[in-house]
Amino acid sequence: MIFYKTEEEIELIRQSALILGKAHGEVASLIKEGITTAELDKRAEEFIKDHGAQPSFLNYNGFPYSLCISPNAVVVHGFPGKHVLKEGDIISVDCGVYYKGYHSDSAYTHAIGNVSPEVEKLLTVTKESLAKGIEKAVAGNRLGDISYQIQQYAEANGFSVVRELVGHGIGRNLHEAPEVPNYGKRGQGIKLQEGLVLAIEPMINLGAKSIVQEDDGWTIRTRDKMPSAHFEHTVVIRKGKAEVLTTFEYIEKAKKA
Ligand code: MG
Ligand code: MG
Repeated sequence: MIFYKTEEEIELIRQSALILGKAHGEVASLIKEGITTAELDKRAEEFIKDHGAQPSFLNYNGFPYSLCISPNAVVVHGFPGKHVLKEGDIISVDCGVYYKGYHSDSAYTHAIGNVSPEVEKLLTVTKESLAKGIEKAVAGNRLGDISYQIQQYAEANGFSVVRELVGHGIGRNLHEAPEVPNYGKRGQGIKLQEGLVLAIEPMINLGAKSIVQEDDGWTIRTRDKMPSAHFEHTVVIRKGKAEVLTTFEYIEKAKKA
């Protein structure tokens, strides 16, 4: 069942998403060589709670952390821990915030210092593929228009699209219908209507699309152990142009500082 949100509900998701954007900025300000991913997780949890909100992921289906931190070949759902960031790494930071009854969800993949040109391109193309998908997230289009656009852009640039993990509706629940695949056909799927709130989140691999799950039951990595990138925004379907509720503004500011 799909829940279309009222303007009052969208306002609450907007507030949740603002806290999330700032939490991402706080994490970004700490990202540098030598810090562990556990330290980033701890700070994110404190920051979110200090703002009167809760980390959406903490205890979600038993997930034990506030952030999913996924370095290099890890696609998504990585556990924060003893991993020390080093030059040339990439890490995806995925975070959700629960505030006044509503979730928001957003992810960003960071480069640590200088990374290889092909990895730099992977990050750029994945972020751009999210923007391309959002361009199609307008009332009257079909869900498949978003999926097709992301896949077409990623593959045209020589990368591959993860199939098993998808974006989703979001609101009172972290994951709601419909699923939002990052691959598909134009003109297929449900017709997009105003008030539908979606988390759109391309997961794009440098090598082949195949993934495996680690023995911890959560961590997803590429089968060929080549790097993977992940960017995510929570958006609301509008006429003409989607409204992006989450923001990378605070991340970009922290990176420039
Ligand atoms: Mg997420
Ligand atoms: Mg998500």
